[in-house]
Amino acid sequence: MPEIAVLLVFWEDAVKRVAVLNRKAALGPQVTDGAALERDLRARVRGEVRFDRGSRALYTTDASNYRQVPIGVVLPRDADDVVATVELCRRYGAPVLARGGGTSLAGQCCNTAVIIDMSKYMNNLLELDVERRRARVQPGLILDDLRSAAERYHLTFGPDPATHNHCTLGGMIGNNSCGVHALMAGKTADNVEELEILTYDGIRMRVGKTEDDELERLIQTTDRRGEIYARLKQLRDTYGGLIRGRFPDIPRRVSGYNLDQLLPEHGFHVARALVGSESTCALVLEATVRLVSSPPARTLLVLGYPDIYTGCDQIPGMLTFQPIGLEGFDELLIHDLEKKGLHAEEVAQFPRGRGWLLVEFGGEDQREADGRAQRLIEWLQGRSVTPDIRYFRDPTQQKLAWSVRESALGATSFVPGEAPTWPGWEDSAVPPERLGAYLRELRHLLDSFHYRGSFYGHFGQGCLHSRINFDLETKRGIETFHAFLERATDLVLKYGGSLSGEHGDGQARAEFLPKMFGNELVEAFREFKAIWDPDWKLNPGKLVDPYRADENLRLGTAYNPMPVKTHFQFPDDEGSFAHATLRCVGVGKCRRLESGTMCPSFMVTREEEHTTRGRARLLFEMMQGDLLSQGWRSEKVREALDLCLACKGCKGDCPVNVDMATYKAEFLSHYYQGRLRPRTAYSMGLIYWWARLASHMPRIVNCVTHAPGLSSLVKLVGGFAQERHVPLFATQTFKRWFQHRGTRRTEGTRVVLWPDTFHNYLKPEAARAAVEVLEAAGCQVVVPRQSLCCGRPLYDYGFLDQAKRLMRQILDTLAPEIEAGVPVVVLEPSCAAVFRDELRNLFPHDENAKRLSQQMMLLSEFLEQQGYNVPKLQRKALVHGHCHHKAIMKLRDEEAILRKLGLDFQVLDSGCCGMAGAFGFEKDHYAISMKVGERVLLPAVRQAEDETLIIADGFSCREQIEQTTERRALHLAQVIQMALHGGQEVHEPAPERSRVLPLALLSGALALGGLLVWRQWRKR
Ligand SMILES: Cc1cc2nc3c(=O)[nH]c(=O)nc-3n(C[C@H](O)[C@H](O)[C@H](O)COP(=O)(O)OP(=O)(O)OC[C@H]3O[C@@H](n4cnc5c(N)ncnc54)[C@H](O)[C@@H]3O)c2cc1C
Ligand code: SF4
Ligand code: SF4
Repeated sequence: MPEIAVLLVFWEDAVKRVAVLNRKAALGPQVTDGAALERDLRARVRGEVRFDRGSRALYTTDASNYRQVPIGVVLPRDADDVVATVELCRRYGAPVLARGGGTSLAGQCCNTAVIIDMSKYMNNLLELDVERRRARVQPGLILDDLRSAAERYHLTFGPDPATHNHCTLGGMIGNNSCGVHALMAGKTADNVEELEILTYDGIRMRVGKTEDDELERLIQTTDRRGEIYARLKQLRDTYGGLIRGRFPDIPRRVSGYNLDQLLPEHGFHVARALVGSESTCALVLEATVRLVSSPPARTLLVLGYPDIYTGCDQIPGMLTFQPIGLEGFDELLIHDLEKKGLHAEEVAQFPRGRGWLLVEFGGEDQREADGRAQRLIEWLQGRSVTPDIRYFRDPTQQKLAWSVRESALGATSFVPGEAPTWPGWEDSAVPPERLGAYLRELRHLLDSFHYRGSFYGHFGQGCLHSRINFDLETKRGIETFHAFLERATDLVLKYGGSLSGEHGDGQARAEFLPKMFGNELVEAFREFKAIWDPDWKLNPGKLVDPYRADENLRLGTAYNPMPVKTHFQFPDDEGSFAHATLRCVGVGKCRRLESGTMCPSFMVTREEEHTTRGRARLLFEMMQGDLLSQGWRSEKVREALDLCLACKGCKGDCPVNVDMATYKAEFLSHYYQGRLRPRTAYSMGLIYWWARLASHMPRIVNCVTHAPGLSSLVKLVGGFAQERHVPLFATQTFKRWFQHRGTRRTEGTRVVLWPDTFHNYLKPEAARAAVEVLEAAGCQVVVPRQSLCCGRPLYDYGFLDQAKRLMRQILDTLAPEIEAGVPVVVLEPSCAAVFRDELRNLFPHDENAKRLSQQMMLLSEFLEQQGYNVPKLQRKALVHGHCHHKAIMKLRDEEAILRKLGLDFQVLDSGCCGMAGAFGFEKDHYAISMKVGERVLLPAVRQAEDETLIIADGFSCREQIEQTTERRALHLAQVIQMALHGGQEVHEPAPERSRVLPLALLSGALALGGLLVWRQWRKR
């Protein structure tokens, strides 16, 4: 009887709904006694336990739209710490969530739970078994650390998310991650052999593939483990038919639990069934993973199509040629890149078109890889639409081409003039043969909602990424967002697809899983979770019985940042500091440990608090005000900013150009408003004024600052590290030298040489060399007579009123030169960055400020622009770029000049030198400064042959090298000067420390003698 059947279905459904409500009620408001839990954790756990507001604020979100304040954070030292943490959480009824890099996009890595962050300590590669092609890893191990170790044997871990240099194996297992090369190696689930796991109720066990007899034996045991296996078998037997029938058979089905892995045809693989469970079932303590061959030779084809849809239509045919990667993107991405001024050179190398596919082939040697590519080209030439084709054989060129695709998320976020874009529908997947049709319909759907979003992704496996300009702040906007998700879900299911192709469900997609799998399979998911986590305490509200997709939004209708008046105008952020603090999209690139500049303080501490992301999060929380309620006086924010070296590495390396140095300056200006700053702010931040004073009696000042005893006193008073030398003042400033010498050319291009504080008062030899070089290049050099300073050191201490005043003075003094379009050559990269960056931010509407920022050039930029034919210099050289130079101006022109000089040079991937202005001189920062320097730069300098020139344009970089190695570094101007002198270094009458020493010793002796006389006199 159909009526009875319908009634039964209703009844079943109602029972299930009640069960859900019960479980949600069980979650209920937190009853955990946080303080007692914290106390007990501290007593038991060897790692770190942090329950303070600031630490919790750091972990409120991942890379998703969601935000939930955790109960506390534990950084376990080892698996035993994890066991102890879970045991205590169980005692207090606290939910638990594991975390790796925290780069999840669907909200599965934030929760009102105790967060166990395994990335800091549990990050070891335990074993690499080359013969069996296996690796045993701890969950916090960064994927690239595993890949570099395996690559030595031409092996790799196949799935490679774009976050490969900072995502962890635990997180990949949690999400069932994929990436470009999942095409050759499958998803993470296909590459996991065995897991050591811990359940919330304290069962620690190893799981993997289970042979039938082993399964029966396990079931016979009456313990909890036996119960788990028995119930898993029962689940498989109950739902096997449905699983086979309703799980879409596509390469990228990542939504839902991997119940298919329990089927006999998959060997009852319990480890793989747990992959993708997003910390909702068990915690991974250790994993054994499969390694695959990494083709040593690769070749890349970039195909340009009239539109991306046409390109996608040809994908099924292309797959028959077995590429190892097949990615795509549309013209919107290129528009966004253009608007942001990114990757122009790489895009110029691309074939014509409005939609592009990147097809990679691998082989044992180049011939094999090229042969495969050639066969695809022949096939393409026989199609009705033949794409424009570019061939990239050279690995460097390939890397550059890939960088365009990899930049997608950053390129499509915070595009000038466009509304911000967000994840939400960023990870759908369909059968690859239906991708073209799906994208056409999805574009119509987006248009009908007036949404904008670029299409890019792993098209060879039908996986699409897109960030969309959802309005997540107004009620109406959020309702529209939700309505769109409903419609998009229907659309992807119409094409036989999956809501997630690699990012997981979290809470962004879990709400729609019943549409994809049907209620019965969703009930199977519930049973699966209940088998592992009967108390429903592991990452509750995610994946099963989830929060709605529009709950817990990071923004939401309650988003209401405190209104603030700022010194900087933030022209790229709609004039809003709050907007700037939203900029971080959570990608976590600032958690890289190996290359680039960003973020030196994380590289040496491995602390979330000392990443750019952590700082951005804290500033967001400060603006939001509920968790961090002290506004600009927030101690936690000050602490997190304390180790920021203001290197601007983030401004250059972060995909959305988070500019923490500027935010730090802004914050400090308010934090210290009306109160005293630390003494270093006065001793080092005001160096311009001290230097002016010292220039009247440099010898005496040098003696005092270097005399034994006296120098210690000076350092103590000034807050200098005792290990450092106070830099010596020049006996003749550069400007005095120039006034005395005068200009030697009265014709040629007129150029202002900027006499920055460092090169004027401390190291004039580089400025003198620059005069010679500029004159050799046919220029008429002028040096401003007035005393001017760009105020660089002031920014580091938040003296922004003073910085603005100095800048105004420059604009007024140099107005005639600025308006006449005279180039201003700057030697010190950090001062150049002030003119290019801070100046525009402080005076966005001042035309002369705009002109000056455009007319200002580094020496290398100016010489390149002039087309100056530098003389040759046959030497080897090691080059360290100043962080501001790399981030704001870029090293291209510097390298061009070095090439023209004919130097055999290597640009070090050294990141920051560690000195970073005054940072490394400060007592409290000395240790960090040295760690940063010792990461790459200082060992490389020490290892360099004596004959090798060390080139560093930054004053502080040269000081770091000089003070910690036996070597002295040169500015580019000095290197060109050497070339002008036939290779001879020009020895300057600079105050060498060796020359000052006798005098200093004498003063020290006199001071000591004076002290003794005085004491004798007092005794009497
Ligand atoms: C810009 C960008 C690009 C991305 N590109 C890709 C891509 O190409 N391919 C792709 O697949 N993904 C991609 N992602 C998503 C994300 O980076 C990956 O899923 C990554 O593998 C997550 O690693 P993680 O260490 O950051 O994990 P986390 O975010 O820390 O954790 C991920 C999940 O695993 C759980 N988890 C972590 N550790 C454990 C553990 N020890 N035990 C149990 N559960 C654990 C967490 O609770 C969470 O649910 C991208 C994300 C961003 C922001
Ligand atoms: S600061 Fe930049 S690199 Fe770091 S997480 Fe945020 S967006 Fe990513
Ligand atoms: S300025 Fe440098 S130290 Fe500070 S957050 Fe950015 S990269 Fe890190």
